[in-house]
Amino acid sequence: MSFYEEAKRRTVLVAGQVVPDAARCVQCGICSFNCPMGIDVRAHAWRGEPVVNSRCLTCGECVARCPRGVLRFERLSIFKEK
Ligand code: SF4
Ligand code: SF4
Repeated sequence: MSFYEEAKRRTVLVAGQVVPDAARCVQCGICSFNCPMGIDVRAHAWRGEPVVNSRCLTCGECVARCPRGVLRFERLSIFKEK
């Protein structure tokens, strides 16, 4: 892996967070069920709050498994590129 790729990967790990679109969520719980860290993603989706949990690996399981496309990754502004 090149330096650039590695730096990019780390930036995503540090600066990425899962953000829900609450209006689309049907509360099926698939996201919470598939989270390897046991984070209750559904509860975040219900409240429309980003998953701000230090245990989140930004592995993408919840994003990939949600049948409604509710979840997406968002980069935190502190690492915004110029
Ligand atoms: S998998 Fe998607 S629709 Fe189901 S509870 Fe989670 S965010 Fe909501
Ligand atoms: S990105 Fe992975 S660790 Fe983070 S909430 Fe989703 S499934 Fe859990």
